[in-house]
Amino acid sequence: MTAGTRTAWLRTLALAALVLASGLGIGLLIDQPWPALTVAALGMLAWHYWKLHGVLMRLNARQRPRPPVDGGAWHELDRLLLRGQTDMRARKRRLLAMLRAYRAAAAALPDAVVVIERNRQRVLWFNEAATPLLGLQHPQHIEASVVGALQPLPMASWLAAGRNAEPMTDVPSPIDPARRLSLRLIPYSDELWLLVARDVTKLMRLEHMRRDFVANVSHELRTPLTVIHGYLEMLDPEEQPEWAPMLAEMQRQSQRMTQLVEDLLTLSRLEARDTLPEEHIAMAPMLATLRREAEALSQGLHQVRMHDNTNIDLWGSHNELHSAFSNLVSNAVRYTPAGGEITIDFTMDANGGAVLSVRDSGYGIPEAHLPRITERFYRVSTSRSRESGGTGLGLAIAKHILGLHGARLEVASQVGLGSTFSCHFDPARVQPRYASRYPEATP
Ligand code: ADP
Repeated sequence: MTAGTRTAWLRTLALAALVLASGLGIGLLIDQPWPALTVAALGMLAWHYWKLHGVLMRLNARQRPRPPVDGGAWHELDRLLLRGQTDMRARKRRLLAMLRAYRAAAAALPDAVVVIERNRQRVLWFNEAATPLLGLQHPQHIEASVVGALQPLPMASWLAAGRNAEPMTDVPSPIDPARRLSLRLIPYSDELWLLVARDVTKLMRLEHMRRDFVANVSHELRTPLTVIHGYLEMLDPEEQPEWAPMLAEMQRQSQRMTQLVEDLLTLSRLEARDTLPEEHIAMAPMLATLRREAEALSQGLHQVRMHDNTNIDLWGSHNELHSAFSNLVSNAVRYTPAGGEITIDFTMDANGGAVLSVRDSGYGIPEAHLPRITERFYRVSTSRSRESGGTGLGLAIAKHILGLHGARLEVASQVGLGSTFSCHFDPARVQPRYASRYPEATP
């Protein structure tokens, strides 16, 4: 209790005592002390009830309490109520100002922001940028269905994926297909989700230019390289023994450049595609081919094992997947010293998906490098990669091919113990195996 409140309270008590004492005094004068005291007490009670009634009426009518006049408890109550109301109003004003500032900031964002109510899949709010980017209009799209409002974007399946929904990195805008958007779903509470759409048209155009540039340069380099390579092949080191080491090195380098150009072209070809032609892939012959390739590359220096205990095949692009798996097998051989072991496993996972893994007992990869090894030209050791004939593009190509199959590449490695590269395929990619329909091995 503050000092002011205590004084008011004491003053009211003093007043009550004074009224009762006066009543008693008058009572004694007229020789009727008890009735006079009763009248004084009843009068005081009536006065308090009247004050209480006044406070209740003011609160009920949401009136501002009256400013205090005297220093009694009722006026102190009025003063405290007035202070409480003033504080609450100020807080409300501050919150409203903050809310307006947030809304203004969200409205001024160059990215489209849409608040979605998850259960009903309705649009609750959107900012100005949502009109040019997504075609949402005020007020018709408030409370409209998100799926209908953003057609033909695949919103239904995307929202169904919930918190695991992958961002859509490059989709056409619903109102202008020439405009490319990157969409991201941010669940910020159980009920409310935020859809953020960014205009990536320029970025995509630049990306397109970069891809075209790499593809064109690689294409242009291919012909002169073929000519140089051809002439180098024609030169016989035995005719000019003193040139032999130089010729061998030139042939090795031109071979490497040709491989580099081929890998760059493969990568640009893959990048330009959203899907690949798909077919039933017989895994028994595919695995046998991989094993033979590993043995041929190893030239007897490693022990190559293969386990295929499943009775399943895959659905996808045969040639591309073969190239991805073969890159992993070739890496396993190249980064495992002689005497090591290479194991190719084809298994099913707990969810009914398929896993092809290539395990080696080689040099291994330090943990710090693991997140980056699928980047183009990223090498743990440049000299080791070059010595073994690597272009630095093998894993980038493999990852891209797996991505086009909705599969993912996982890498586990320990320095000095070896590495395991696993390709995980969804159950939708798994096919029953028809042993008799396919020959033993692919060419
Ligand atoms: P490269 O042509 O250099 O082998 P990749 O893209 O195939 O290029 O691989 C990238 C890098 O990842 C390699 O340079 C190598 O450092 C590392 N790497 C890939 N596979 C293995 C493996 N099985 N064991 C150890 N390191 C590996």
